[in-house]
Amino acid sequence: MPDARQANHHVGDVPMHVGGTPLDPHDGQWLDVVDPASGATIGRIPRGGEAEIEAAVAAARQAADDPAWRRLRPSARAALLRRAADLVRERLDELTAIESRDVGKPLSQARGDVMSGAKFLDYCAGAVDKMHGYTIPVEPGALDYTQRVPWGVSAHIVPWNFPFHLATRGVVPALAMGNAVVLKPAEDASLSCLALADLLTEAGFPAGTINVVTGLGSEAGAALASHPQIDHLTFTGSVATGAAVTRLTSDNVIPLHLELGGKSPQIVLDDADLDRAIPVIVKSFVVNAGQTCSAGTRLLVHERVHRAVTERVVEAVRRLRVGPWHEDPDMGPLISLRQRARVEGFLERARHEGLRPLVGGGVPDRSGFYVDATVFDDVPATSTLFQEEVFGPVLTVTPFTDDDMAVKLANATRYGLLAAVWTRDLSRAFRFVDDLQAGQVYVNSYGLAESTPLPFGGMKRSGHGRDKGLEGLLTYSQLKNVGITYA
Ligand code: NAD
Repeated sequence: MPDARQANHHVGDVPMHVGGTPLDPHDGQWLDVVDPASGATIGRIPRGGEAEIEAAVAAARQAADDPAWRRLRPSARAALLRRAADLVRERLDELTAIESRDVGKPLSQARGDVMSGAKFLDYCAGAVDKMHGYTIPVEPGALDYTQRVPWGVSAHIVPWNFPFHLATRGVVPALAMGNAVVLKPAEDASLSCLALADLLTEAGFPAGTINVVTGLGSEAGAALASHPQIDHLTFTGSVATGAAVTRLTSDNVIPLHLELGGKSPQIVLDDADLDRAIPVIVKSFVVNAGQTCSAGTRLLVHERVHRAVTERVVEAVRRLRVGPWHEDPDMGPLISLRQRARVEGFLERARHEGLRPLVGGGVPDRSGFYVDATVFDDVPATSTLFQEEVFGPVLTVTPFTDDDMAVKLANATRYGLLAAVWTRDLSRAFRFVDDLQAGQVYVNSYGLAESTPLPFGGMKRSGHGRDKGLEGLLTYSQLKNVGITYA
């Protein structure tokens, strides 16, 4: 296991986790694990495919149908979740190092991600015995009530940007509600998901309730999404893959929960407290090197404060510390060469459309997959950069003249994940709260410190369904109505 102080530690071959035991690929095919800060290969994960998905879904099916798991009291499931939360906290340094190096993210950011997993476990442990149904008044001599029951086999496909956070966000409530899980992490960062499966098994979750198959999206991912024995699928990733996955599930008529991309606006009104707003605005587009679904990548600024805001944002960007994960900088590299090429493509296209960066706009001269934090000013709503998710540290600034124009610009993309408005005037703020099309809206912040209980998910092409909070637990259960005649 890697240690936070051992930047060059090699992880070797890390097996999958199926039916409570380690599993190597049946045909001996492996994928390299690459350190984004150096480009060096630091280990291998299995290139699982149809055979491994078949084994994992069979193990999950057996566990989901096993009366010992189906009838386990909610308080007993809560005890397993609490034990797992304790293990996450005990292994905080180890899990942080795994996540930091695999994703290339600064240590303190990875530490926050790992701690969020412990918080999901604690939250679900506390909530699971309160997920009750209700009674419905009906005719005399009859009783009608509802129950929340698990789906059965709950499938999860997650991306590489927050592997531990996103896996626990879905897997933990799914287990809490009595499902059995098959998880397919992203090929670029699977290590913390494999560690999670080991940890949950150690905490006492029965064999087959948590299974992890690594591999490519087009192979293991497609095999999982189209498998006729899964009962529910949570997909987190891009809009294009979300649409492809929707097609793969359609013949099996299963519910689909989609957590997709974003192009989230931060709106700065002319009375905003800039001392509070600027650090949050900068952090929200450079955290995890901009590879964050909820990144605040469109800055909409009232013309009266346009100049002051852009100057201060550029100044803050120039001060950012950039480097490898173990130096715990403000910003690390992108995940891969492919992702960097994608971001460079957007920068090139922006130049082609006549945009010039105020700061950044290139790739620093160092090994690893770094790209400059970049700010473009006067970006029109028609430009590619305003409309498309870059998934890199790139901010667009667009001035507006009044609140109507700001709302219109904020809602002018196909996405609807987050939105924030900065103002000292609460009556103006509530107008934005009413009109912004986003699954989460913040006023004078961009997220709250206590985020575990807050329902998270998208409107429009950012997806549908909600994770986190009590809504997240409801996502992983279905409603059964029971009618009893006794007269
Ligand atoms: P992606 O869509 O390329 O891949 C996501 C996952 O899907 C990976 O595990 C991949 O292996 C798998 N996959 C790929 N093709 C597949 C197929 N044909 N069938 C089944 N599975 C397949 O996304 P990415 O580049 O890894 O992640 C970035 C995207 O994820 C961004 O758009 C980002 O906004 C989004 N995201 C959304 C949230 C959210 O909560 N809304 C959170 C994080 C990331």
